Amino acid sequence: MTVAVYPEGTASSVSADTRVNIVGETRESLSALLLAHGTDRARLGMRTAQIWQWIYQKGVRGFSEMTNLARDYRLGLQDVFSIQVPELALRQVSLDGTRKYLFRLGDGKEIESVYIPEQDRGTLCISSQVGCTLNCAFCHTGTQAMVRNLTAAEIVGQILAVRDDLGEWPERGRHPKNETRLLSNIVFMGMGEPLYNFDSVRDTVRIAMDGEGISLSRRRITLSTAGVVPGIHRAGEEIGCRLAVSLHATTDEIRDRLVPINRKWNIETLFAALRSYPKLSNADRITFEYVMLKDVNDSDADARRLVKLIKGIPAKINLIPFNHWPGAQFERSTPERIREFASILFHAGYASPIRTPRGEDIMAACGQLKSASERSRRKKQET
Ligand code: SAH
Repeated sequence: MTVAVYPEGTASSVSADTRVNIVGETRESLSALLLAHGTDRARLGMRTAQIWQWIYQKGVRGFSEMTNLARDYRLGLQDVFSIQVPELALRQVSLDGTRKYLFRLGDGKEIESVYIPEQDRGTLCISSQVGCTLNCAFCHTGTQAMVRNLTAAEIVGQILAVRDDLGEWPERGRHPKNETRLLSNIVFMGMGEPLYNFDSVRDTVRIAMDGEGISLSRRRITLSTAGVVPGIHRAGEEIGCRLAVSLHATTDEIRDRLVPINRKWNIETLFAALRSYPKLSNADRITFEYVMLKDVNDSDADARRLVKLIKGIPAKINLIPFNHWPGAQFERSTPERIREFASILFHAGYASPIRTPRGEDIMAACGQLKSASERSRRKKQET
């Protein structure tokens, strides 16, 4: 039995804003909050697990629905804690079924997430920052002025909000297997550089992988980085999900220009970090993303250099045809060029699927994300 502590005179009319949002709290931090709120120490582990299951497996947003908790305890929790996810501001559905979501955050900032349904899986591409500081030459998100890190609540909240939209909250006691879920995979390939927001991304992945949290296998979660070298080793130690690397060039000269973070950690430094990534194995291959830019990085010599660079690393290469956006200075390589490039990789023994752009009609494809209000503001400035 617990009693909520109110500042004098506010009784139970505490406004929603002052409550602590517990979405995104790790098991440890949620336990600490519950303990401070008066939860019996002997029951702390059990209470934390129960509340987690309600939030992450049943999609509940109010403590009153947590029927396996005593009524007074629930009421006490409801007064001091909230369960909040980003507000869905706009949803666009592409002709190919891809869904792009625009979420509005508590401070009015906006982010985008993309859901990509495929035959054998449903992948949610989530954002880790508002905007991005990396300024990759070919990426639309990098042209957005405002940048801040998302909280774990805002990152985990994208997953919960999309499951709301998909209507994917299983009936009580029935938790579908990973492979039969509508939302079966998560990729950190939306807005932002996840390794520049390490702690929140780590906490999100832990909740996503936990059997009492979102309960996805670690092999179904991929963190994509442009090459934040100190973060790569830490990710292997503290996160343990799959890794994708936005490589995009095979010489420092070209990579410096396309992915400016290369001036800080060049190709040699990056590959040294990748070779010592603790999770590396044939079952845990690194995915290299390579955007195909006409006459910039798409020659046979590039393909051969790429093979040399990744030699010895269990790897897969995703060739991404460049997706255009207003004002972009690049062109997509021709289909023949992409096929020839892929065939050099294939003959060297690497799987190199050519990514079919998804959701292009709603600007949801790789590198096209940029929140709607930023876009319209820009448009106004340009006209
Ligand atoms: N900052 C992280 C996460 C973003 S992932 C990273 O760089 O890995 C987004 C992926 O889309 C990256 O591989 C990025 O390089 C790629 N991309 C960006 N703009 C693109 C465009 N216009 N066309 C195709 N791919 C693009």
